[in-house]
Amino acid sequence: SKFQSVGLVIGVTGIVGNSLAEILPLSDTPGGPWKVYGVSRRPISVSFRSITEGLAVEHIQCDVSDPDDAFAKLSPLTDVTHVFYVAWANRIVEAENRQVNSAMLRNVLAAVLPNAPNLQHVCLQTGRKHYLGSFESLGKVKAHEPPFREDLLRLDCPNFYNDLEDILFEEMAKRDGTVTWSIHRPTTIFGFSPCSLMNLVLTLCAYAAICRQEGAPLKWPGSRVVWEDFSDASDADMIAEHQIWAAIDPYAKNEAFNCSNGDLFKWKQLWQLLAREFNDLEDILFEEMAKRDGTVTWSIHRPTTIFGFSPCSLMNLVLTLCAYAAICRQEGAPLKWPGSRVVWEDFSDASDADMIAEHQIWAAIDPYAKNEAFNCSNGDLFKWKQLWQLLAREFGLEWVGYEGEEQRFKLVDAMKEKEGLWEEIVAEHELAPTRLEEVGNWWFVDAVFGVEEVHLDSMNKSKEHGFLGFRNTVSSFISWIDKMRAYKIVP
Ligand code: NAD
Repeated sequence: SKFQSVGLVIGVTGIVGNSLAEILPLSDTPGGPWKVYGVSRRPISVSFRSITEGLAVEHIQCDVSDPDDAFAKLSPLTDVTHVFYVAWANRIVEAENRQVNSAMLRNVLAAVLPNAPNLQHVCLQTGRKHYLGSFESLGKVKAHEPPFREDLLRLDCPNFYNDLEDILFEEMAKRDGTVTWSIHRPTTIFGFSPCSLMNLVLTLCAYAAICRQEGAPLKWPGSRVVWEDFSDASDADMIAEHQIWAAIDPYAKNEAFNCSNGDLFKWKQLWQLLAREFNDLEDILFEEMAKRDGTVTWSIHRPTTIFGFSPCSLMNLVLTLCAYAAICRQEGAPLKWPGSRVVWEDFSDASDADMIAEHQIWAAIDPYAKNEAFNCSNGDLFKWKQLWQLLAREFGLEWVGYEGEEQRFKLVDAMKEKEGLWEEIVAEHELAPTRLEEVGNWWFVDAVFGVEEVHLDSMNKSKEHGFLGFRNTVSSFISWIDKMRAYKIVP
């Protein structure tokens, strides 16, 4: 035969099975050229490149938990030299996990061992829960102290990994040591398969896509420790290489091995990368620009809260504040601060709409500004308690600042049912006809004023690239109020 080795991958559509199916047939894979059989319970979908694109993997659909099906489909594979066992079934209760997973491994070995005379090696994949306990017992038994070494004793709790090991040893004994084994213990696996039971990266992508669809931020659901302490992971391709190594190398026989990437990371780093990957608009821009091979340049502008004119903007903060102030005056009420202490008394920054326009025109024209992302804010700092007093003075109002958490409120609630008042104001002052929901973006002001920490950005990059524009935020605030008055948008 033109093949030196014949691999049987049990669980070929799984997260590591797919990597094995892609790597084994490559011309430079140790032990090759490899012929590969790939077993899965379900039919193959088009996503599996190794099988659907003819990369020398022969797919066998077989339910290995059924002894008859396993025997019927696997015992005829008499040329198998290496088994890669990367399958598992997940049941809620560990007792059931033990039962079904034991049966699966037994059925496979019972079909292959007596019928594949050239069988040399069996790789069994288990995992880090060897040291931690099963999902069911996590936190209930005392795990080993990390770092985990392969020679640590088994934990005293039921775990299907122990059963799998025992079945493996038992079955290997039947071939009197002529067939070798290795056990591979990855931690969280990063890999491809869309039909894995535990594909973390895929699951995170699905989560990020849903957040993006909802316009929601990517919120971390987990613990502080996982967020900010060191973690490790196991790349599925590397696990496949590890198994192929153990299948071939005489030095790796009859041993259990941990199997992780060999570096550390923090989830807070990966979380930011994930958020960036799902940063829709930028991705679309880059993709489309790539179609013109760099002949069209781009720039990205990242303003903070914008002070500007438009009466039909969805987020016009100054206009909304003017509408709020006009309503307070109409009701004879003081101008009450609705937001947080931090936004009231710490530093804030803002972006003048005219200055953003200048920044964009600069980037459109200046060769030095091409293909870069830039922050875009006024370049000074202010405090809302200063602007609040100016706003009150502009509208001839008493003002009330931040007075404790109990006094906080949302403009969305406070401005309910004020449409009639706004109609009165429009009529009395002969304003351009607008409805309150057009001029009052209450949710937006609630969001900006409700923040609990200081957010400021740096304009250094713009300056270093030659944009020296700036605005005095206090003057900017007043000038937009003046302009809205001049156009009779606000009284
Ligand atoms: P997976 O869930 O990605 O794939 C399982 C494969 O097994 C699929 O191809 C499926 O078709 C096959 N399979 C399941 N039941 C079958 C049946 N009855 N007959 C035939 N095929 C069947 O697998 P995985 O995540 O690589 O898990 C393998 C081992 O690795 C498990 O012991 C698991 O606990 C461990 N592990 C997984 C991870 C992870 O992040 N995914 C991490 C550490 C350890």
